Amino acid sequence: MSNQAIEVQGLTKKYDNTVAVQSASFTVPRGTICGFVGPNGAGKTTTIRMLLGLITPTSGSGTVLGHSITEPEKYLASVGALIEGPAFYPALSGSENLKVLATMAGIPTERVDELINLVGLTGRGGDKFKTYSLGMKQRLGIAAALLPSPEILILDEPTNGLDPEGIQEVRDLLKKLASEGTTVFVSSHLLSEIEIISHHIVMLRKGEVVFAGSINDLLLNQKPMIIVRTENEGDLEKVAAIATADGHHVSIRHGEAHIEGPHEWAPILNKKAFDVGITLSQLTPTLPNLEETFFEMTGDRS
Ligand code: ADP
Repeated sequence: MSNQAIEVQGLTKKYDNTVAVQSASFTVPRGTICGFVGPNGAGKTTTIRMLLGLITPTSGSGTVLGHSITEPEKYLASVGALIEGPAFYPALSGSENLKVLATMAGIPTERVDELINLVGLTGRGGDKFKTYSLGMKQRLGIAAALLPSPEILILDEPTNGLDPEGIQEVRDLLKKLASEGTTVFVSSHLLSEIEIISHHIVMLRKGEVVFAGSINDLLLNQKPMIIVRTENEGDLEKVAAIATADGHHVSIRHGEAHIEGPHEWAPILNKKAFDVGITLSQLTPTLPNLEETFFEMTGDRS
């Protein structure tokens, strides 16, 4: 049995004038949470649809659980997927909705109660779907994807539109599932979200994979940074000029200067700024997070 839950090689999908996915190659090891990240329009949904056999690649190949994506019937029974907002009957309860789906799929309905508990809907399974919060609806969607006891769960933007509480609920659920051995492949345009829960990531930009691998490896290889705020925001450009003159790469984002440089340089900057009458209100040596790493790698700016 391959150690990879998903493997794709040169996967490409073209529509008339658009290349949605351009020669994507990556692997997703079994038993991990793998984040699939990139801005809206990067090609995440298109890739997921190819993995599920919903659309045919223009070129390239892939396997899911060791079977070619040209033969999805060989693996789909072992895959749980949530790719669009879950479609449930509003007037039926959460449990009734799951029972309908289980019956249609020939899955014993006893599993429904277990899943209601697993996704944290204990005590609410009998309430009508239409009374659920967005977070509860999304967790019911994940419960539906879990009905066949899948080896791998593929989720497209499961936290989209959720409030912080709902995001936390879904995050906790995914961690729990992964700790029980399910491989989770989860897409998001929110890098900060993925950084918290993933071991592995695949980063997509304009249809191309810019990084695929362990999140620790990616972040450990990043250069140290110094984040600076000035008392007068107008002084930020002057700080940037000081840093550039000393040979450091700078970008200004969210009212902060992000300076690439060794942490020992921070006190030197502080003195240089002081000497020209600039007061720093923040001077933080740090390592780049996933969002910054993505910006540095792709040149994209938020
Ligand atoms: P993401 O999920 O990362 O937001 P998508 O996979 O939905 O990105 O879209 C990638 C690109 O492919 C976008 O430019 C989108 O407009 C285009 N696209 C997606 N589906 C179709 C389609 N059926 N026909 C034409 N273009 C499409």
